[in-house]
Amino acid sequence: MYHWQPAGGSPALIRFGAMQEFEGKVAVVTGAASGIGLAMASRFASEGMRVVLADVEAPALDAAVTRLRQQEHEVLGVVTDVSSASAVEALAQQTLDAYGGVHILCNNAGVGGGFTTAIWESSLKDWQWTMGVNLWGVVHGVHTFLPIMLDQDEPGHIVNTASSAGLMPGNRIYGVTKHAVVALTEALWDGLMQRESKLRCSVLCPGVINTQIMFSARNRPEELQNLPGASVSDAERDRSARVKHLAEMSGMSPDDAAAIVFNAIRDEQFWILTHDDIDPVIRTRMEDILSRRNPTPRTDSFGLRAIEQPGR
Ligand code: NAD
Repeated sequence: MYHWQPAGGSPALIRFGAMQEFEGKVAVVTGAASGIGLAMASRFASEGMRVVLADVEAPALDAAVTRLRQQEHEVLGVVTDVSSASAVEALAQQTLDAYGGVHILCNNAGVGGGFTTAIWESSLKDWQWTMGVNLWGVVHGVHTFLPIMLDQDEPGHIVNTASSAGLMPGNRIYGVTKHAVVALTEALWDGLMQRESKLRCSVLCPGVINTQIMFSARNRPEELQNLPGASVSDAERDRSARVKHLAEMSGMSPDDAAAIVFNAIRDEQFWILTHDDIDPVIRTRMEDILSRRNPTPRTDSFGLRAIEQPGR
């Protein structure tokens, strides 16, 4: 069914038909043992969906699955390292074996990466770890699940979790990965529209959400540690604690973020931005580009910049 809808001041042809029914459908969420992923999985389950929770952290995943089953939701936990193509293929196979299809895919697993102040200070292992989870995890999800979802020929939705860092001027490796996820998801949208698919997609660009992201090093593989066997430094532990304090004081709850995502799926909304205070930063970046002006120094939208300063 086609409708005329104004977009950017001029009429645009929009085809409606994506997900409106959730009861009994199947959702797969990566990074589902904690934070935003767990909240999205819980929300989908409470809408009557069968949910596959995928995560690399087995004990947290077990706890999440047990809790949701106690609430009488139909869920399955699959230990998955999204940076591995074969692990994501196994996740898809277990999903099909258990539930016979997939309607919502949230490529959400992510890590904060290192805390260096300048990009050249990052080690190649920092790059491999952060790109492996944040970008390759999304690539693997799209590459593995899209053919399955297209073959089903049913309404469905893919949500790729980027970040407000994917819209702001680049700084750390984290921002590089999130800009890439934004571009990947725009390409996905374009392909789905070209094919007149029943699938839709969104890119989630959250501001500060109160999760465990600042403790991402807990899941850094041994072979990608900068110093083999090294534990987290005192400086890094101190910074994580301050970011956590900031997130507790001013961050959005994961449940509120999940509600925004759910509404966006139902409304076929591509851009999912959880916070308005990032808008001026995005606008300034765009104006810099369009006026061929050098990058405007970043403002401290979320108070994170202050924490990143050396000696603070
Ligand atoms: P979180 O640490 O609470 O949850 C992330 C989950 O990803 C964890 O359960 C972790 O075990 C899992 N994970 C890590 N590496 C993995 C791997 N290799 N394979 C599978 N799972 C893996 O953090 P969160 O904030 O809920 O993060 C979810 C997503 O939201 C991430 O992509 C993150 O970059 C993004 N994000 C978070 C914020 C925020 O303020 N919390 C802001 C913007 C974007």
